[in-house]
Amino acid sequence: MENKYLDYKRLYKVVDYVIDKYPELNRESFEEGSMFIYYPEERKIQISNVIDEIEFEGNKFLEKYLYEEFDLYIPQDKMFIFSILHEIGHYFTFDMNNFDEYCRMLRELSDENYTEYRKIPEEYKADKWAIEFIKNNKNILSI
Ligand SMILES: [Zn+2]
Repeated sequence: MENKYLDYKRLYKVVDYVIDKYPELNRESFEEGSMFIYYPEERKIQISNVIDEIEFEGNKFLEKYLYEEFDLYIPQDKMFIFSILHEIGHYFTFDMNNFDEYCRMLRELSDENYTEYRKIPEEYKADKWAIEFIKNNKNILSI
């Protein structure tokens, strides 16, 4: 599968929507890169316009998982919104006391084990934060 690319302008619409509600966040909290990831030590949120094969498979999984687990339906073409909110969720919920344990759990995980990944406590907390945000701000899904 070829990589697909999102429009960064669209990504920043999501970012700005959240910044507007949480003044402690600003554009400086974000950086652009090759994937969606949160760096707990720097408290930096990386966003990405690339949907590669792994991301695509992950989004397919998420569509089903979020519906079954949280009763929230997000179509795959809107999953980048959830991905951004998930990383922002880490920003607000990550407990540095769990950092070593978190890294250990990530290391022990096999690459394709999406379900186990979502059960890692810090990941689950970030999911919960993102889901709450979407449920309270339904129009964000129209971005
Ligand atoms: Zn995460």
